[in-house]
Amino acid sequence: MHVDVKELKGHPGAQRTLSRTVEAPSGLGTVLVGIAEHSDLDLDLRVESVHEGVLLTGTASAEVTGQCGRCLDPIGYPLTVDVMQLYTWTPEANQTDGDDEETREVTAELTLELEPVLRDLLVSALPFQPVCRADCPGLCSQCGFRMEDDPGHAHEQLDPRWAALASLADTLNHDDEDDDASS
Ligand SMILES: [Zn+2]
Ligand SMILES: [Zn+2]
Repeated sequence: MHVDVKELKGHPGAQRTLSRTVEAPSGLGTVLVGIAEHSDLDLDLRVESVHEGVLLTGTASAEVTGQCGRCLDPIGYPLTVDVMQLYTWTPEANQTDGDDEETREVTAELTLELEPVLRDLLVSALPFQPVCRADCPGLCSQCGFRMEDDPGHAHEQLDPRWAALASLADTLNHDDEDDDASS
């Protein structure tokens, strides 16, 4: 993902548009959601020669796929991020004015490397806690039942006395197994 900007050097004000669909590189994602490798990444960008470098503006769009963090259902939705990045002609032109805006440089071959910029923008636009919908009820914490299938799903609160018996039965069963193993 390189953009040749040779013809823009020395012509402040010159610009060209860049509309193309490229394959998404690997690693555009978090644990639960991301942009699948080789899926379409639509670029609609403008490259403009300015005094200190090349200004890249526009949008990048892709389809996000993954899993709901609560019910693990598959989810998918389109994502568009705004791109605004200055690539400076020379390192000397880098003026860090306090904010952590990352400055980038035009490569020695007079190209722009798009991938690191797009990667930062797209990955940071992904949700930390993706959900299929805001009020997704998720899964039962005790048995993993999909709460959406029956909102009334609940577990009988086991009577403590029965709980004691149940654990005794467990112990006995366990002893039986030990006996079987030794005989
Ligand atoms: Zn969900
Ligand atoms: Zn349950």
